[in-house]
Amino acid sequence: MLSDLSTASDRDAAALVAGLRAYFRSGSTAEVSWRRKQLSQLRKMISENEERFLQVLHADLRKAPQEGYLTEISFLYNDIDHTLKSLKKWVRPRKVNSPMLTQPAKSYVQPEPLGVVLVIGAWNYPLQLLLSPLVPVIAAGNCAVVKPSELSPATSRLIAELLPRYLDNDAFACVEGSVAETTALLEQRWDHIMYTGGGRVGKIVMGAAAKHLTPVTLELGGKSPCIVADDADLEVAARRIAWGKFTNAGQTCIAPDYVLCSKDTANRLTPLLQRVLREMFGEHPRESPDYGRIVNSQHTLRLADYLGDGEVVAGGEVDVDDCYMAPTLMRNVNLSAGVMQDEVFGPILPIVDLDDFSKVEEFVNNREKPLALYVFTRDDALANGILSRCSSGNACVNDCMMFMLAQDLPFGGVGASGMGAYHGEHGFRTFSHYKAVMRRRNILDIDIRYAPYSNRKMKF
Ligand code: NAD
Repeated sequence: MLSDLSTASDRDAAALVAGLRAYFRSGSTAEVSWRRKQLSQLRKMISENEERFLQVLHADLRKAPQEGYLTEISFLYNDIDHTLKSLKKWVRPRKVNSPMLTQPAKSYVQPEPLGVVLVIGAWNYPLQLLLSPLVPVIAAGNCAVVKPSELSPATSRLIAELLPRYLDNDAFACVEGSVAETTALLEQRWDHIMYTGGGRVGKIVMGAAAKHLTPVTLELGGKSPCIVADDADLEVAARRIAWGKFTNAGQTCIAPDYVLCSKDTANRLTPLLQRVLREMFGEHPRESPDYGRIVNSQHTLRLADYLGDGEVVAGGEVDVDDCYMAPTLMRNVNLSAGVMQDEVFGPILPIVDLDDFSKVEEFVNNREKPLALYVFTRDDALANGILSRCSSGNACVNDCMMFMLAQDLPFGGVGASGMGAYHGEHGFRTFSHYKAVMRRRNILDIDIRYAPYSNRKMKF
C-alpha cells in the first residue's frame, strides 16, 4: 500500500483509496476480531516504540518526556484500553419498540462501518491528535488514511515508518505531506473526513467534502475564555490556569486563551500567576527542561507581534532562532488588537479585567463560540448560570482541560470551534452509521394499508 504521496497526483490518491475501498468491501474490517487485533497492534506500536515517540515529540516541540507521556502516550493507552473493553457493548444492535401496526416485528438499530475515512492531524499534539481519532475509526470497522501534519515532521516520519509495520496494510495507510498532498487526498471520495486544525483549512476540507456529500468532523479551535469570579480560590486557580495555558507552550486547542475577571481579581491573580510560573519553570524558563518551544519561527514571529497589543507584566522574552517565547502575562490589552481577536495558540495569557463583572457573559457571547469555557468560582449558581447561557464545545468548572480524561465525555466544538465529536463511544458513533432495521414476518398481512382504500380501513 502506498505510504508516501510526496509526488502526489490525484491518480496516486485515487488508486490508494480504491485499494482501501476494495478491501473494505471484502468485509474483513467488519469482523470484530479484526478490529480488536488492529487496536491491540496500535497499542503495541506505541508501547514498543515509546522512547522513539518521546524523542520525536521533543524534536518537534521540545516536549518534556513526562509531558509527552502524559498528554500523548498514556492518553492513547487509555483510549485504546477503554475501547477494547467497551467494543462488545458498542457493536451490539440496540432493540427498540415496534408499533402495533407493524407486529409481528423486531426493530433494532445496528451500527455499521462507514467505509474509508480520511484523518487529517494537527501538529501541536502530533501523535495523539492523529491516532486518537484512528482508534474509533478502527473500532467502528473502517479503513483509513491518516495524514500527519508537516509542521511536526519528526513525528510524522516516525508514524509513517511504524504504522505499516503494525497495522493491516490493506486497510490503513499513512500519507505524509502538506498542502499539495492533502489537496490530492481531499479530491477523493471518502466516507468520512476527520480534520483537526484551524478554521481556515476547515472550510477548505468542508468544501471538498461537500462535492461528494461526505460527512465531516471538524475539530477546530478558537478563543477559550477563562472566567475567574471574585470568590474563586485564586491559589488553586492560578496553578490550574498556568498549567492549562503553558503546557506545550500554550499550543493546545483547549488552553485558556484569556482570563476574564474583575479588576480586583486581576490585581490579586496576577502576582499569584507570576509566582506559579517561577515555581513551574524557574527564573529562566528557557533553561527549564519542562518548558516547550513554539513549533516554528513563523509562529514565534506571529506571537511576538502580539506583545505590542498591551502591557507585558511577566515574560515577554523572545528568541526567534530558538523558537522560544517566555511564559507571558499581559494586562490592559487592546480588545481590538490581534491578541484579543485571534486565537493566541502560544504562551501569552491576556488578563482582561471588566469594570462590571456581570458583563462576562455578554463579553463571551459577543464572540465566536469557543472550544472550551472555564469558570473558577465557589458559587455553583454562578457557574450554572454562565454554563447555561454561554455556549461552548466543552466546559470545566474550577479547572482547565481535565475533561479530556473522561472517556465518556464527547470532545468537540460548536459553531466556529467545530462540528461533531469523538472520544470513547462518541467516537465510535461518529465513524459508524446507525442503520434502522425492522424485521417482519409473513403472517398477519393486514390489508388496511393496501388500495383500494375505504372508510372501513380508515377507521381502523
Ligand atoms: P492547519 O489548519 O494549518 O493544519 C492542519 C492540517 O491541515 C495539516 O495536516 C495540514 O497539512 C493541513 N493543511 C494545511 N493547509 C492546507 C490546505 N490549504 N489545504 C489542505 N490541507 C491543508 O493547522 P493550524 O491552523 O496551524 O492548527 C492550529 C489550529 O488547530 C488552532 O486553531 C487549534 O485550536 C486547532 N486545533 C484544534 C484541535 C481540536 O482538537 N479541536 C486540536 C489541535 C489544534
